[in-house]
Amino acid sequence: MIFGAEGFAPTPRELIEPEAELLATLGGVSAVWTGRAATALYWAYRIARLVGGGIEKPEIIVPAISCASPGACVLAADCSVRCADVDPSTGMITLETVQQRWSPRTRAVVFIHLYGQTADLAALAAWCRERGIVLIEDLAQAQGARLPGGAPAGTVGDLVVYSFNRTKILESGGGALVFRSPELADFWQEIREQSSRRQAVSPERTALLALSLRDLYHSLISLRRLNLVTDVSESYLQLQHVYFSLYVEPLRTASILSAQWAGAARKLEHRVRNAEAYSEGLSGGPWLTLDGWRQSGVCWRYSLLLDSRLPLVEFTEAVRRDGFWASNLYWPLNEFLCPQDVCPHAASFGRRVVNLWVDETVTPERAGRCARSLQTHAEALARA
Ligand SMILES: *Cc1c(COP(=O)(O)O)cnc(C)c1O
Repeated sequence: MIFGAEGFAPTPRELIEPEAELLATLGGVSAVWTGRAATALYWAYRIARLVGGGIEKPEIIVPAISCASPGACVLAADCSVRCADVDPSTGMITLETVQQRWSPRTRAVVFIHLYGQTADLAALAAWCRERGIVLIEDLAQAQGARLPGGAPAGTVGDLVVYSFNRTKILESGGGALVFRSPELADFWQEIREQSSRRQAVSPERTALLALSLRDLYHSLISLRRLNLVTDVSESYLQLQHVYFSLYVEPLRTASILSAQWAGAARKLEHRVRNAEAYSEGLSGGPWLTLDGWRQSGVCWRYSLLLDSRLPLVEFTEAVRRDGFWASNLYWPLNEFLCPQDVCPHAASFGRRVVNLWVDETVTPERAGRCARSLQTHAEALARA
């Protein structure tokens, strides 16, 4: 099925083959193509809410290290966000950190395969199953990844979410929600009927609104870095209702998505070659590199955890001035959405992580030059 500009419709001809491939790979029972991953997550949360028998404010556990949308769209689904702390060496949640956030109102857990890394999810999945908690796998940054045991990522959760939008792997536009559980697919029917009645927003208004949300997020991160405020959640939460329409977005690029589908494997290979070049050029520097891409086969961004003595912003800016893409915007999400959920590992990770680009704009040669820029600035800042 597709959620397109005309609302819900049967899967269009050009997406029938990609859908069959996706379902076969994941052991899925059905799929909905959407305009973005956030729409898939929003519906996943609505489903989790129904499964739990409609209690007041059910809780969804999301990772404290994540872009804002998986957490922010929990609010649009009228649920409460809880943030789980992360493994300090990967930035991903673990069974233990999820257990710390469990309450009788917990209805879903989102596992984000961060930066293309994966993890063994068997114990988390078993724990969720015992408690009737929906496990959602978010593959926005890890399309095509392999779990440590060799099975495809997305073969453990009840629901699986993809993004094909700009900055992700495929970049054709779009997203998908895949159902691996037949019962959840039934619950979906109920939600679908309510969702089709929503008012359409024009793409121009949507783009401006999305920019506003991004600016708000970045602006508050800067205030936190400067330590001018201690609590950003009040300002952030107060405005969130304004942005809710952003999370229900139709797929407008089905034919581009279908045309690019088969090219994903080649894109992943290109990314891995770039990662290898970074890896070679960055050895011995004052950082840890996240090497999970070697096992998973997917590198979304090449990520470094800087030695805490290196000034993150100054360092990133110096590398950018040399003409290389580098970002440092993974501030702990708990500070925005649920400050009561203290996450010490995420606090440290968010202050140290730098992401380098491995997409089509980069070649191994360029990655090597970027690595030299990082080494040079790290040495200069260490001397300063
Ligand atoms: C980008 C991203 C999303 C949101 O994707 P959209 O398609 O822009 O909605 C969700 N989860 C993760 C982990 C992401 O990186």
